Amino acid sequence: MSPVTTCDVAVIGAGAAGLVAGHHLRREGHKVIIFEKQSQVGGTWIYTNKTEPDSLSLDPNRPVTHSSLYLSLRTNLPREVMGFKEYPFVVKKTGQRDERRFPGHGEVFEYLQDYGSEFGVYEMIRFDTEVIRVWRDGNGKWKVRSRKVKSGGEGVSEVFDAVVVCNGHYTEPRIAYIPGVDRWPGKQIHSHNYRVPEPYRNKVVILIGSSASAVDISREIASVAKEVHIASRSTSNEETATLPGYDNIWLRPMMENAYEDGTISFPNGVKISADIILHCTGYKYHFPFLDTEGIVTVDDNRVGPLYKHVFPPSLAPWLSFVGLPWKVVPFPQFEFQSQWIAGTLSGRISLPSPDEMTKDAEAFYSSLQSSGIPKRYTHNMDGIQFDYNDWISTQCGSPKTEEWRKKMYSATSLNRKARPETYRDEWEDDDLVFEAYQDFAKKISK
Ligand code: FAD
Repeated sequence: MSPVTTCDVAVIGAGAAGLVAGHHLRREGHKVIIFEKQSQVGGTWIYTNKTEPDSLSLDPNRPVTHSSLYLSLRTNLPREVMGFKEYPFVVKKTGQRDERRFPGHGEVFEYLQDYGSEFGVYEMIRFDTEVIRVWRDGNGKWKVRSRKVKSGGEGVSEVFDAVVVCNGHYTEPRIAYIPGVDRWPGKQIHSHNYRVPEPYRNKVVILIGSSASAVDISREIASVAKEVHIASRSTSNEETATLPGYDNIWLRPMMENAYEDGTISFPNGVKISADIILHCTGYKYHFPFLDTEGIVTVDDNRVGPLYKHVFPPSLAPWLSFVGLPWKVVPFPQFEFQSQWIAGTLSGRISLPSPDEMTKDAEAFYSSLQSSGIPKRYTHNMDGIQFDYNDWISTQCGSPKTEEWRKKMYSATSLNRKARPETYRDEWEDDDLVFEAYQDFAKKISK
């Protein structure tokens, strides 16, 4: 590739990832169109009280609601850690802003809008425009077919040199398999369709999962429900106890069977008559528009083959993904990945050959297999996200993750474990907050 090429790039999605990708691609000199099916930026952070008619979201033809946020949601990361490196998530004293360190979802939404304005990203976005198909046209270019959401129809196709996929991965629910559940008469819901606790008043609820959402939602529901039973694989079969501080939340192992009479059985012989099963069981990667002729697949929630979670080796750098990893600090990681993609497309940064990238991906998959890690954990970056980000920053010649951010992330994780109910309002890392704001002051004054 000759140095510094300008490409026509389609970005799919104007959530946090698409905003950052658009900004970095244009900064590198590319011509960018961002397709966004909603009428605002922010993706997940656009709260809506609308849920899907199919409460488990299994019907492929259902009207899809993108966001999975519940009304009470506050961030699970402090704003200093969560924010972009280039545009710190500092407290704004103007208007009706939420000044809390772990703010509510509305503050994140406003922050993303601020980011869009700050860097002029809006002018690249086509709102209310859904990408319905992406495929290669035979000349090494990409075709993107899109249509206006309101008018529908066949849409129009346009040609691009490159496509960056930023469509998010918290919309298509994963459901737990429960033997006998087809005959069980109660109601099943996925947390994607959970908004407020009121519908759970006086109910007996079995909540499956142990994620951050499961922790928040179980406590919120317990304030109105008769009983909440948290079924999780991480609870041993023998264990049966209430959650400390609650007399109506029970910790249970994963359920065994559901029966016609409305009961649910657990391996330790416990049987409970329940009204609702709430699946807080996560999401699937889903790219209904993407046709790579089988080159990129989703297999047990592994999107692959991908070089470093971003590039399919044989299509690099012309197809890429921002934001696939989980158990990460998403916004700064989007910045690292976007810089890398922008620089490889212009030719400023080189990638290994397709063969070498394929070997690297295969070696990574083998290492997971030999450690007994299932495919669905491929993009789990628990414990390795900062090494990964540092590696990308070396490719890009850009600054690494700040030391205070790494330390604050660890301090928050420990605090969250120690005080799951109150970690958002009680902490002991004020020294790191001070350090972060000193760093921000340098950036803001530049
Ligand atoms: P999204 O925000 O999902 O954006 C994707 C965009 O693509 C959407 O706007 C969508 O409309 C658009 N799109 C999709 N398909 C198409 C198409 N075919 N055509 C056109 N447009 C399309 N992260 C944190 O940092 N801190 C937190 O506290 C936190 N809490 C979370 C709580 C919940 C319940 C959830 C679900 C996630 C949370 N996250 C949190 C992670 C969050 O997903 C990321 O912060 C971030 O919003 C992901 O951005 P994204 O751009 O990858 O995806």
